[in-house]
Amino acid sequence: MTISNEKPFIAGNWKMHKLIPEAVDMVKALKEASAQLTDAEIVVIPPYTMLSEVRKTIEGSSVQLGAQNLFWEEKGAFTGEISPLMLKDAGCQYVTIGHSERRQYFGETDETVNKKVKAALAHELTPIMCIGESLEEREQSKTIEKVETQINSGLEGLGKEEMRLIVIAYEPIWAIGTGVTATPTQAEEVHSFIREKLAEKYGNEIASYAIILYGGSVKPDNTYSLLKENNINGALVGGASLEADSFIQITKEAIKAYKEKK
Ligand code: PEP
Repeated sequence: MTISNEKPFIAGNWKMHKLIPEAVDMVKALKEASAQLTDAEIVVIPPYTMLSEVRKTIEGSSVQLGAQNLFWEEKGAFTGEISPLMLKDAGCQYVTIGHSERRQYFGETDETVNKKVKAALAHELTPIMCIGESLEEREQSKTIEKVETQINSGLEGLGKEEMRLIVIAYEPIWAIGTGVTATPTQAEEVHSFIREKLAEKYGNEIASYAIILYGGSVKPDNTYSLLKENNINGALVGGASLEADSFIQITKEAIKAYKEKK
């Protein structure tokens, strides 16, 4: 599925939250609202155990399904891991790869991120590749350097056609789950660098269609100003995606901002 940033892209990363009944309630409400939100791409990213029930609940709506991680092999003796084939089987179209919590707590590196991105693409899953700097790196003015390394390594060996199928999420680690959001100017500075970098690697056309999300304490009251920036195509939302009301409100704000910047 070739991606395009004509509509804002709003993805809700539930992390390790909810049990099946709450998950179903949340997506029922989202499904109902989604009929009025067709000017956005909406993706929910629940824990593995809820994928199947969430898939059944969103059926017939424009809400799409993603998973939070995968392992790169198709099958085998890899206890505790989930393969791309299994995610497809569960009805996923998207998968987040290299979220900072996975890099921080589970030893993911740019090399494993690259393997996972390739495995996702090989099975027609759209990877949402997460990158971003720590507070220390920002304070040492190493943000751009860090993001550049993560892009070069995460996308290593991928060609133009593959780049048409990858979503990038810029998530400054210091803004994730902290309540501190990057200012629109801070975020746009990095987003425009990412787009320039993609243009350098893959050409202007591919860079101009690329979906580059911002993530880090996105809330209904900061979505509009972030999404108004030229190079911000959507949001990867953690905490504020858990409740249907706030996730719906974020989507509405994103649609409003997008319409105004067209
Ligand atoms: C995330 O989980 O990717 C995230 C950005 O979380 P939060 O919105 O809670 O900061």
